[in-house]
Amino acid sequence: MADLRRCRPLFVQWLNYLIDLWQCQGVTRPDAPPGAVRQGSLREWNLALVLDRIAAADRPPSRAELAAGTGLTRATVSAVVEDLLAGRLVAEAEPTPRAGAGRPSRGLVLATNGPAGLGLEVNVDYLAACVVDLAGRVRKHTVHRADLRPVSPAEALARLAELAAQARADAAREGLTLAGAALAVPGLVDAAGLVRLAPNLGWRDVPVPALLAEGAPLTAHVDGVPPLVVENEANLAALGELHAGAAGPASFLHISGEVGVGAGIVLDGSLFRGTRGWSGEIGHLPVRPDGPPCRCGGRGCLETYAGQEAILAAAGLAGADLPADTATTRLAELAEAGDPAVRRALAGAGTALGVAVAGVVNLLDLDTVVLGGGYAPLTPWLRPPVLAEISRRVLTAAWSPVTVRPATLGATAAAVGGAGSVVRRILARPAGWLARPG
Ligand SMILES: [Zn+2]
Repeated sequence: MADLRRCRPLFVQWLNYLIDLWQCQGVTRPDAPPGAVRQGSLREWNLALVLDRIAAADRPPSRAELAAGTGLTRATVSAVVEDLLAGRLVAEAEPTPRAGAGRPSRGLVLATNGPAGLGLEVNVDYLAACVVDLAGRVRKHTVHRADLRPVSPAEALARLAELAAQARADAAREGLTLAGAALAVPGLVDAAGLVRLAPNLGWRDVPVPALLAEGAPLTAHVDGVPPLVVENEANLAALGELHAGAAGPASFLHISGEVGVGAGIVLDGSLFRGTRGWSGEIGHLPVRPDGPPCRCGGRGCLETYAGQEAILAAAGLAGADLPADTATTRLAELAEAGDPAVRRALAGAGTALGVAVAGVVNLLDLDTVVLGGGYAPLTPWLRPPVLAEISRRVLTAAWSPVTVRPATLGATAAAVGGAGSVVRRILARPAGWLARPG
């Protein structure tokens, strides 16, 4: 046994050499953390591995526990932890007394004074900015309510830039450094961040990154973390839900019900974006091909039955001049009080939603549907008709029931999901953060 123990360091060295060689060949390890680089150094791999274990632990692990859990030597773990501490990626937790003799152990936790993600959202009736730290905590969240339909894209993005600048200043005061930003937009976004079409905002071919940069230069440069990613809001809201519900299902459909209706499809823990990132336009699934005209140019789309304005119109509240931010709350209050017109309107919207959802469930074999955005507080009235349509139309419903539940995050989940996506990039490749200039 003693001989074997003496041989262990040599064996680990040899193994590391082989792994290094393997990486130089550009081979991805099958168990590499999401987003891990393919040809990074062994150090990069070890940094990501140790940080991943600290992030996933349900209590702060010690260096010895990390060594045992990763198979790395204690010396390697100590060196990696020193790098992570110096880069403000991890911190030492308060010491916990040990049973029996010995020094109290100090576990490691994700740092709350290091890098952070900035999440931004421009929607039909609000702007939002939020800051999420490495541990996933929302540290700042600002929502500015305003009807942005009469406002030019340049003006809307100038106002958003003010919120972004304020968020950056607030984050700096708390010792946080914004490593990157993600902006949620209710429309089709191409790979360069150009918003091709946002029908409910009236935007077409808007160069969002350039316009936003005029008011808020996002200069953070971290390898592997773009300064700004522009993404469809329903996709980012779905990511927010995925990150918020650690024990939730790995596959689900998240529907954001606002003036427009969009969906994010999460399959096996990853967002299904489609070939060009334009998946999830559930609001334009035809519920009745000969129905009312839709802003998209089609007829009878889901949005014309279950969009916020359609629900208000069906409830007889179209002319009530309700401020956009209170419309959902008002609908929920009236439904709670038993208002028959509102109950009928929600039943109709729920039926249309159920028809569309049943089609998606038949296609993708999902067992969980999350109602987000403005739909979340209306879930008690939308769920029964949605479930009725699922039971009527989904072939497998009799053997595999579908769960329909409200979203965990609030109405501005997309901004939180966007900030969280920045943080996830850092966790997947900490070496990019450690090597940043300055
Ligand atoms: Zn449409």
